[in-house]
Amino acid sequence: MTAAALAKVLGPRLSITLVESSEIGIVGVGEATIPAIALFNKLLKIDENDFLRQTQGTFKLGIEFVDWWEKGHAYMHAFGPIGRDLAYIPFHHYFFKGNALRDHAQGTAGSLWDYSFNWLAAKQARFTRVDRIADTPLAGLTWAFHFDASLYAAYLARFAQGLGVRRVDAKIAEVLLEPERGEVRALRLDDGRELAADLFIDCTGFRGLLIEQALHTGYEDWSNWLPCDRALAVPSARASPLLPYTRSTALEAGWQWRIPLQHRTGNGHVYCSAHTSDERARELLLANLDSQPLAEPRLIRFTTGRRKQLWNRNVICMGLASGFVEPLESTAIHLIQVTIQRLILLFPHRGDVEERRREFNRASQVEYEYIRDFIILHYHANNRVGEPFWDACRNMSIPDSLRHRIEMFRETAGIFCASEDLFQLTSWLQVLWGQGVRPQATHPFVEAVAPHDREGYLRDLRGLFAQATRQLPSHADFIARHCAAATPDVA
Ligand SMILES: Cc1cc2nc3c(=O)[nH]c(=O)nc-3n(C[C@H](O)[C@H](O)[C@H](O)COP(=O)(O)OP(=O)(O)OC[C@H]3O[C@@H](n4cnc5c(N)ncnc54)[C@H](O)[C@@H]3O)c2cc1C
Repeated sequence: MTAAALAKVLGPRLSITLVESSEIGIVGVGEATIPAIALFNKLLKIDENDFLRQTQGTFKLGIEFVDWWEKGHAYMHAFGPIGRDLAYIPFHHYFFKGNALRDHAQGTAGSLWDYSFNWLAAKQARFTRVDRIADTPLAGLTWAFHFDASLYAAYLARFAQGLGVRRVDAKIAEVLLEPERGEVRALRLDDGRELAADLFIDCTGFRGLLIEQALHTGYEDWSNWLPCDRALAVPSARASPLLPYTRSTALEAGWQWRIPLQHRTGNGHVYCSAHTSDERARELLLANLDSQPLAEPRLIRFTTGRRKQLWNRNVICMGLASGFVEPLESTAIHLIQVTIQRLILLFPHRGDVEERRREFNRASQVEYEYIRDFIILHYHANNRVGEPFWDACRNMSIPDSLRHRIEMFRETAGIFCASEDLFQLTSWLQVLWGQGVRPQATHPFVEAVAPHDREGYLRDLRGLFAQATRQLPSHADFIARHCAAATPDVA
């Protein structure tokens, strides 16, 4: 991603070498994205249909969370808006007014997700590209993608090479430091070659070969809040219908992902090794597959947290080398994308770069911390009483920033987001509400709309969303028509 973006933006003014080792390979997971990836594709001028064809990709309208609040309960973090705001007051205040706030019983206003076009389409496995619901001011669908991680990496490597990036397939044997300033001077490859450069982007995954092993930058460990530390990943056969969303199902000591692709389904069990064994995790993963496994589950170990500085001396780290929050909200590829964007904005092209480096590190830290809080919310606000892992998550102390958010919502359904917060109001709303956090009151200005008018407004909205959903084609048909992979390997 980094080589492709830099080559696209700065072209022949930079000489870029991409070093990767086919012997080591890539982590091979990371197959679900969020809608902002469209900006990255736009930057590269990637044709969306071609990209989906080459990566066996599908569309993603949100993430369904099954059994997270308590067993038997499900909700979705759907992309796109929910309802429609009125006179500066966010929609959910009107919705809550017509509903029983403190329990999960539905009032006359139906479910919160009856006002999400994305949720309605997702649950009916429908999709088309639609910007706006015809003859209304209501937004259309908002989508991201699922894709095969290995095909995506190969696709971007080809793309970057087409833009003049030199690709070297070799192992880095040693990182050579310049003795005075302690910067990285060159990389020595296992065939003896030396690659010198002005700037090094460390994309070596969890190893952090340059940023950590050579520069000892340090890692802020977040396992006290995000205790899952292992994942078992396994592909299984393609299942029908082809769902346009990711599913995350809470299990005894973690959760399982399900990512539908054109040629297979990606699955993985993320779990906490202090609360369960690898054997039990494997057993649960395989028992919860809805199609035939296509390989043996593969174990991946990680520690949640972030690198203390993403830019240290002349090394900038990207991806897993920069940290790992949790795969729960598919944020890692997005973090790569925004770090690339920041690198382009603050590119070290002249003189002293100290102030730019400081800004780079500050912004990266804030961004990571907002995402961290959002993920912790899913674990912490649970009602799975009597299960040791979930009891520990519910009873743990949480960051003050998150405690403040939850209290604001509990008091008056208030949700306030900073511009650097990746997840904005509708995301926080769905997860707070979905995880059972209940406000005690709504905004007083909602009273300005008479109950009869409010109910009519909500009814009309529900009707428009339901009607628009019925007109959408199925997700599988849309893929078959516009972006089917050339050789679909439907196992
Ligand atoms: C369990 C799990 C689930 C995830 N799910 C999601 C998701 O749904 N959505 C999402 O956005 N993200 C997800 N991620 C994160 C995502 O997988 C990564 O952000 C993404 O794959 C980028 O990885 P990377 O390039 O940083 O590391 P890697 O894929 O590990 O790549 C490291 C590269 O460095 C090279 N390398 C390493 N050492 C050397 C060496 N000595 N010499 C030469 N080359 C070397 C390797 O060959 C490889 O090319 C998930 C991560 C995990 C662990």
